[in-house]
Amino acid sequence: MSAKVWLVGAGPGDPELLTLKAVRALNEADVVMIDDLVNDAVLEHCPRARIIAVGKRGGCRSTPQAFIHRLMLRYARQGKCVVRLKGGDPCIFGRGGEEAQWLRERGVKVELVNGITAGLAGATQCDIPLTLRGVARGVTLVTAHTQDGSSLNWKALAQGGTTLVVYMGVAKLSEIREQLLMGGMAADTPVAMIENASLPHQRECRSDLSAMEEDACAFQLKSPAILVIGTVAASTAAYAREEPENAVGCQAASVIVDDHRERTRSYS
Ligand code: SAH
Repeated sequence: MSAKVWLVGAGPGDPELLTLKAVRALNEADVVMIDDLVNDAVLEHCPRARIIAVGKRGGCRSTPQAFIHRLMLRYARQGKCVVRLKGGDPCIFGRGGEEAQWLRERGVKVELVNGITAGLAGATQCDIPLTLRGVARGVTLVTAHTQDGSSLNWKALAQGGTTLVVYMGVAKLSEIREQLLMGGMAADTPVAMIENASLPHQRECRSDLSAMEEDACAFQLKSPAILVIGTVAASTAAYAREEPENAVGCQAASVIVDDHRERTRSYS
């Protein structure tokens, strides 16, 4: 039997957002190597696997990437069913591409399984349509964090007319704000900051470009969080063709602290 590794997306946290294919891979796994952002609740789908935590959160003690590579290779060559389980989607800021290439160069078969990436899940959980006819013609996923310190083309992003979804942006709010304002984005562009998307302790903070740093600070926004920047990030009520009877109006540039479950109730 040839060596094989599954690179699987665990989705944003809610175990119900796992794909059926991910569940099948987990069910068959002998070894599951997990990242920090994977919700432990998904591990109930691994009845017989040895679970190895190989997380690497920004700023924390991390498992060297070379060690992770070698461990996957060792187990795969032993004929074990190896699942490398990553938060969200393995190929969206998840090193899935790097790991797949490294393994394939060593003759290991790799099967990639999509997960729902945090940016999509976070927006959906907050009723934000990332694209919307006549409002947002596209969506751009970016990370504010680079290893080599290189910068994004913020001007192009500011003027691109697409909704921006920013990953790993909590520590970079000041830079993001400055660069987008300098790039020509309107100061009152709506911003939604979504922490722990899809988890029971999800929180969302609505603001706008000029006030987002201050509002995030007052809200004590913490990682993991994604930022959705663009007209679509205004309160749902601003878009609803038929507003729910009990919809609460949008307060631009104010912080709306929202408990996910209460919100679901008030819109149902
Ligand atoms: N591969 C992952 C992204 C990993 S990068 C994916 O596709 O989702 C890590 C960043 O993802 C975090 O800093 C944060 O910006 C975002 N993130 C991951 N899980 C999240 C969650 N449940 N809620 C909000 N943001 C999340």
